Parts: sequence; structure tokens; C-alpha cells
Amino acid sequence: MEVVTPFIEVADAIEEVGGTDLNLCYQCATCTGSCPWGYVDPLNIRKLIHLAQLGLEGYEGEDLWKCTTCRTCEVRCPRGVNILDLVRSIRMMIGETGLIPQTLRGALGSVKSDGNPWNGKRQDRNKWAQDLGFEPFDKDKHEYLLFACCMPSYDPRSRKLVEATAKILKAAGIKAGVLGNKESCCGESVRKIGDEELFGSLVESNGNIFKENGVTKILALSPHCYHTFKNEYPEFDVSIQVTHMSQLLAELLRDDRLKLTKPIETTVTYHDPCYLGRHNNIFDEPRDVLKALPGIEFVEMHRIRESSLCCGGGGGRMWMETEFGKRFSDLRIPEAQSVGAKVLATSCPYCINMLEDSRLNLNKEDEIVIRDLTELVAEALG
Ligand code: SF4
Repeated sequence: MEVVTPFIEVADAIEEVGGTDLNLCYQCATCTGSCPWGYVDPLNIRKLIHLAQLGLEGYEGEDLWKCTTCRTCEVRCPRGVNILDLVRSIRMMIGETGLIPQTLRGALGSVKSDGNPWNGKRQDRNKWAQDLGFEPFDKDKHEYLLFACCMPSYDPRSRKLVEATAKILKAAGIKAGVLGNKESCCGESVRKIGDEELFGSLVESNGNIFKENGVTKILALSPHCYHTFKNEYPEFDVSIQVTHMSQLLAELLRDDRLKLTKPIETTVTYHDPCYLGRHNNIFDEPRDVLKALPGIEFVEMHRIRESSLCCGGGGGRMWMETEFGKRFSDLRIPEAQSVGAKVLATSCPYCINMLEDSRLNLNKEDEIVIRDLTELVAEALG
């Protein structure tokens, strides 16, 4: 990446666009030491913050788009610096100069033109819904709007998550409808990449569609959508109750509303998605679900909960090429195997995608499988 001409009053401008903690940082480097990039190809987040404090003078790229926004650094920062808002704000400023990776430019362009980052056609969004018996959302008939994320519409592996969800909701008698191609991407990655203007327009269009259709409760399959609707849309006066599928599953099992009759005789471990765990403290519900599955032996990996290892797909990294051997998900597969797991379970379409890719690249197809919680519960329903 080329050297960027320093901005005048950059530090003030960073604070203005959301990086309000810039001068709280006292340069201890705990963030750099905590960052999962340290295992494969270090990212010096402390140095990036220091450069921002100096008005980005001497900035030379500094691997700005390497950050996966996993939040490990923030959890450990002794000053409580909101590091991700700083990264997002710096990206916003650098992005305005045009220095944004080409692949991210493509993903943003696809969101602008078709409402999803996958280069899929808008009219193909939620095509799966009809095949699976989901009706258009009707506030008088449906308790939830099912917001399944962009991925199941354009990625065949993720479609299995909505198939499993359909089976589970039917078994539990939960009524959920869909908004078809009227809805757009929630905008989580768009905002983390630094395109605040596009994010604002997604919030506005989704917010209007939710309002027009009388949506009061969203059921989200992706932790990224869950996080964004719950924590970021309210900044724009769009406040809707949101439940992640893992929370609903835990509740249904606790209330005995799902009869799991088919034992799954295997050893399962759980990978905490960053946007469910570290960002939203949802650690117990997914584990409660797995422990309720008949026949399974549940084992934990060494890095779990707040210390869980990121899959590497957040913060826009899903659309960037990461060299084999430098993907965090490449480390997660052997970690799961080291505790005897035959199934690596998670609860996020991004994590599923990254972990499946690594399983393939590591030639582990015969040794371990990747499953979403929904898939395991649907299987146990028989
Ligand atoms: Fe600054 Fe916090 Fe990083 Fe220390 S851990 S360098 S205080 S952001």
C-alpha cells in the first residue's frame, strides 16, 4: 500500500467519526500481544493507534484491513479503549482516500447494487424460503421475522442452516415469516470495513421495511446480524427485539418444547463465534444446547469463551484472501482434534464457512466435521 499524505488534524477527525478513545491509549501494547495475528503473521495494533495519535504521519498501510474485529484486544486493554471503533474510524478516513483493498471494494459494490456482499442478484435473496415453506412475514401470523443473513441465499453450505432451522421451528410450533428480497444485508461488515455512509443507508432501508411490515421481533441466524440489530441499529433509532438462534434453541430445550429422540453418538466441541461470545457474552446457551443433545460427549478446547480463537472471517476478512497457513481457522481444526472432538460445532455462518475451508485445505475431511448448532439439533429431532 502506498504512503498516505498525513491529514491535517487527523486525530480530531478520527475522534469525530467515532474513534473517541484515541488519547486514552497509553501504549502498553497489551492489544498487540493479545491479537490472534500474533500466531501467524503479527499485526501491531498499538503502533497503528500511535500513528493515529500522531495524525497518521508516516502511515504506510500498517495492515489496517487485517483486523478481524474479534475484540480480544478490547477485552484485555487495561485502559478500556474502544479499539474497534478506532480501527473502524481509521479505516473510514483511509478509505476516503481510495486506499481500500480491491476485494473489499467489490463486496461494498455488491451491497450497494444488490443488497448483499456476495455478488448475488437481489431477486435471488431468500429464494430458499419458498422451498422450505416460509411465508412472507405477516405481523398477525408470525411471531418472528426470520433474518437468515445474506449467506444462505448465495452459499450452498450455509443453506443447510436454514433447512435445519425450518425443521426446528416447525417441530417447536414457532411461527416465523421472511421479507424475501425486500430486506438487505444488515451491514455489519460494511460498517467494520469503514463505509459508514453505506451502513447508514442499509439501516434506513431495513428500518423502513421493518416498520412498514410491523416487525417487532427478529430471529437472527448469524451473530453478525444479531450484534448489528441489537447494538448498532438503535444508534439510528431502529430498535427491535432480537434473538439469536442459539438463545432460542436453549430456551426451547429448557422448556421441553423440542423432543430430541435420535442419539448422536460422537464427541463434540464448541467454537465461540466472536460476535456471539466476546461481543455479546453469549457463551452458555450454545453449550447448554450441545449438552442437551442425546448421545454426545461434550469436550472443551483450551481457548474458549473470552479467550476463544477467532475464525478469521470478521471485519471484512471474509472477502480478502488469506494465505493458507495464516488463517486462524487452520489452527482451530487441530485444536479441536487435540481434545478428541469428531465434531467441531459453532453457531455462525461465517465461522462455518472459514472452518469448512480449513478442514478441506488441511485434508481433514475424514477426521472431523463442522456443524452448526441448528444442524445438530435438527439431526437429533430424528
Ligand atoms: Fe493502548 Fe489499550 Fe492497546 Fe495498551 S492495550 S496499547 S492502552 S489500546
